[in-house]
Amino acid sequence: MIPYPFTYSRAKSVDDAVALLASAPEGKLLAGGQTLIAAMKMRLANPSDLIDISGIEELNYIRVSGGAVAIGAATTHCEVASSKEVAKAIPALTHLASVIGDPAVRHKGTLGGSVANNDPAADYPAAVLGLGATVKTNRRGIAADDFFQGMFTTALEDGEIVTEISFPVPQKAAYKKFANPASRYAMAGVFVAKFADGIRVAVTGAGPGVFRVPQMEAALARSFTPDAVAKIAVDASGLNSDIHGSAEYRANLVTVMAKRAVAEAA
Ligand SMILES: Cc1cc2nc3c(=O)[nH]c(=O)nc-3n(C[C@H](O)[C@H](O)[C@H](O)COP(=O)(O)OP(=O)(O)OC[C@H]3O[C@@H](n4cnc5c(N)ncnc54)[C@H](O)[C@@H]3O)c2cc1C
Repeated sequence: MIPYPFTYSRAKSVDDAVALLASAPEGKLLAGGQTLIAAMKMRLANPSDLIDISGIEELNYIRVSGGAVAIGAATTHCEVASSKEVAKAIPALTHLASVIGDPAVRHKGTLGGSVANNDPAADYPAAVLGLGATVKTNRRGIAADDFFQGMFTTALEDGEIVTEISFPVPQKAAYKKFANPASRYAMAGVFVAKFADGIRVAVTGAGPGVFRVPQMEAALARSFTPDAVAKIAVDASGLNSDIHGSAEYRANLVTVMAKRAVAEAA
């Protein structure tokens, strides 16, 4: 299906994108277009202007230094998946990027687009929350715990542009997802990270948005073994239930994926 007519402009810099957005109140940023163009074709979004940020060089980088992996918002999933620097610092992150969608999606889709979109079944939110990353924008830094606010909802304000995600390097981490066989989106994906001062466990795909599991975090702080989470079940009452799987099925998947993630990280 063909989208509605719109005005297309290509931003040359973040400042340029900010100015273009300010002059188009019904406009939207276009990164990889892997979500937005599909939404426009289905008549679920109808922006007057598309401001393309995919060519902004200052948003495309990977820097590993000072115990953190900083990745520019316009960096594609494929670039993260194939980065030797990221693989050395946080192999769980390259793995996560490598299991997003298919090669076409990974070559166009961007880190910033995925995080800003906050699809409840997207993979990156699990890494951002699981590693306690900071989402940097043109205005401020937002802690992961404050950023994700529910289904397709984030702390981003009108006109705010994600510029970078800074991931702290953990001692150990792993991500395991049970992918929907058709879409490859997560039915349940669990990111487990061990830091000197504690454990973080983040779940995507199972609920209306990414969430942490404090009970698993406490158990893993006592013993970082798959057995420690084997008997911990998340409450199914708030989880998604659809043609692909019931809430109870997804709750069970969370425990299974958590066990697998710990086994890989340990
Ligand atoms: C067939 C298919 C399978 C997929 N499978 C998976 C999967 O398994 N796992 C997964 O995680 N994802 C999956 N995706 C989604 C994919 O990862 C997208 O790339 C991602 O959700 C959106 O990124 P994008 O760069 O394409 O953003 P776009 O579609 O360009 O934008 C999405 C939204 O984010 C906004 N936006 C974009 N960049 C910024 C920014 N820097 N700051 C603020 N707002 C911004 C846009 O205005 C828009 O509202 C799949 C997509 C398809 C089409």
